[in-house]
Amino acid sequence: MTTTPYWLGGKTELAVPAATRRGETDVTIIGAGVTGLSCALTLARGGMAVRVVDTRGVAAGASGRNGGFALRGGTPAYDEAVASLGREHAQGLWRLTETAFARMLELGGDAFRRVGSIRLAASDDELEAIEREYAALTADGFVVERVARLEPPLDRLYAGAIHHPGDAGFNPAVWMERLAAHAVEAGAEIVADTVNPEALPEGTVVIAVDAHTSKLLPELADAVQPARGQMLATAPLPAVRYGVPYYARDGYDYWQQLPDGTLLVGGCRDHAFAAEASADDDVTSTVQSGIERLLVNLVGRAPTITHRWSGAWGETLDRLPLCGPVPGRGGVWVAGGYSGHGNILGFACGELIGKALLGDVRRELRLFDPRRPSLSQRA
Ligand SMILES: Cc1cc2nc3c(=O)[nH]c(=O)nc-3n(C[C@H](O)[C@H](O)[C@H](O)COP(=O)(O)OP(=O)(O)OC[C@H]3O[C@@H](n4cnc5c(N)ncnc54)[C@H](O)[C@@H]3O)c2cc1C
Repeated sequence: MTTTPYWLGGKTELAVPAATRRGETDVTIIGAGVTGLSCALTLARGGMAVRVVDTRGVAAGASGRNGGFALRGGTPAYDEAVASLGREHAQGLWRLTETAFARMLELGGDAFRRVGSIRLAASDDELEAIEREYAALTADGFVVERVARLEPPLDRLYAGAIHHPGDAGFNPAVWMERLAAHAVEAGAEIVADTVNPEALPEGTVVIAVDAHTSKLLPELADAVQPARGQMLATAPLPAVRYGVPYYARDGYDYWQQLPDGTLLVGGCRDHAFAAEASADDDVTSTVQSGIERLLVNLVGRAPTITHRWSGAWGETLDRLPLCGPVPGRGGVWVAGGYSGHGNILGFACGELIGKALLGDVRRELRLFDPRRPSLSQRA
């Protein structure tokens, strides 16, 4: 059994074209995931000399280890975001991700399958919650649909569902190879190296390491804490019943099936919260058994499992990322803490920092200010 992500397809690392640029660097980006590469692309296209540094190579972190779900918005459901941020900010956040995703589609092409996503209700309380999200999205002009009828076995397992038609399933390896190729083509350099927190590079630095933020910026240890997500993949199944990304129990269970029948299932982090507060890419029997029970419920039998793996992301108390200059450290910027929702938001935050460094400071940055009080009021 391998603990390498299914997405690598037997490769040990992604294929990324060699960079040709050498010499003076205007901006060093630490982390070659979706955030760092998006920032690198924006800066390189803007004429800056950019170097991206990663210990393990392109997409070796969460960007190459997630479930391949491209979901608009933030971690809280839309109605919760309206309640906590206010309507204007919530609308702004959802629009930011919808427009960022349009650019991702242009860059990633058929790495994305735009089939939407389905949020399921596992209880009557969750059914009320998805109704509240449906009502809030509809009231503010965002496209969302009720699912009229769930097919077996979902009709037996879940109380109802809504469909977000603009979302997508994607292949993280293909998407990240393409994003890295665009960044290199624009002139960015990607190098393998580990940055020591005691000796950050000279000049302007962007720290884009999500789960590992506090290792490089210890003063943010309370603000961004690591969390692990585990997954498994089956051998291809004869019928494709789950061709759309599905999630339930507030995102603690999620799965999608690929066109060849392979079923990817993840979640159950709530079975062992304390153990899963980790940035180590390990799998555990407690969480994997929970995912296997979900798999059996979905398939009606125990299919062959070919891959088990995990990845880590950074969580914040208010479930919004940090994206902006690091207080007290001139020239150092941070983007991370997407709270498990960084596939589009990470791309958007990389762009926001890139644009700001090119002189175009967008107002969305205010929402993600690393100095905001809601990051430090942990009980
Ligand atoms: C199982 C799982 C399921 C997920 N589900 C979803 C989902 O449904 N929807 C969603 O939007 N998001 C989801 N996510 C989260 C999403 O994948 C991440 O938020 C996003 O990929 C973060 O990208 P990033 O570029 O900021 O960080 P990463 O992709 O984690 O990249 C950080 C990089 O920094 C490098 N690094 C760390 N420290 C150093 C150092 N000192 N020196 C040099 N390099 C360093 C690492 O090697 C790594 O490559 C999920 C994640 C996982 C693991």
